Amino acid sequence: MARFSDFPPTIESLPNDLLIEVLAKVAAFSFTDLVQAKLATKEFLEASSHGYIFQHASLRNFQKLLWNNNPEFWSFMEKCNNNGNPETLYQKGMLEFFTYCREASGMAYLKLSAQKGYSEACYVYGIILYTASSEDEGVKFLKICEAKLGFKLAECRRRVKELVRYLWVKNKISLSKKDSSDQRGCESVVKNCCKKNVRRIGWDGNDEDDYYGEHTCEACKWNEEVSRFCNMLRTGSYDML
Ligand SMILES: [Zn+2]
Repeated sequence: MARFSDFPPTIESLPNDLLIEVLAKVAAFSFTDLVQAKLATKEFLEASSHGYIFQHASLRNFQKLLWNNNPEFWSFMEKCNNNGNPETLYQKGMLEFFTYCREASGMAYLKLSAQKGYSEACYVYGIILYTASSEDEGVKFLKICEAKLGFKLAECRRRVKELVRYLWVKNKISLSKKDSSDQRGCESVVKNCCKKNVRRIGWDGNDEDDYYGEHTCEACKWNEEVSRFCNMLRTGSYDML
């Protein structure tokens, strides 16, 4: 009868595909756990350079890692981006656009992530396009985000705000005065009906998904969404007091 010690050690006996799958699961949880796993065995270290892992890795503690300037972190992020990881493409895009003011580069990263269906990227990319006078294209991406989230934008706003809190936002985009005061393209037949609906306060606290209600037209809804995002960049809050 085989004794327990006769069995080969488990990790060494795993096929490479399975090792990669295990590491991808670890990486999807956190970058720091992946670093620990790589140190654990030679097999993990060898399997850890597979593109599939970078494609699925998550930098959930990105905010903390962001400013410690660890070269290993940046090299890891670069590999994730080269492997088309939607989450890191979004994070890189946010940094490029809002912190380093490299708008073209930031938009390129955000677009790549949005095209892969990453909801926060669709949201921010849509908003930036909207403020850059490409309203139709912007609304198209905002609607993709909304549809992906089952019309629940509150969670997306919360996550975007959380990331923005850790960025040093130097590029504070805004809607031009004409846009925010004219309620561009209001489709409501009742004058000022939409304005009344969207002027309630306390959005941050309540995080209402159906904030706009059925009486706010699409045009006013997106105008308000963009306007509140721009406000959040400045004040840290979606609420406009
Ligand atoms: Zn309206």
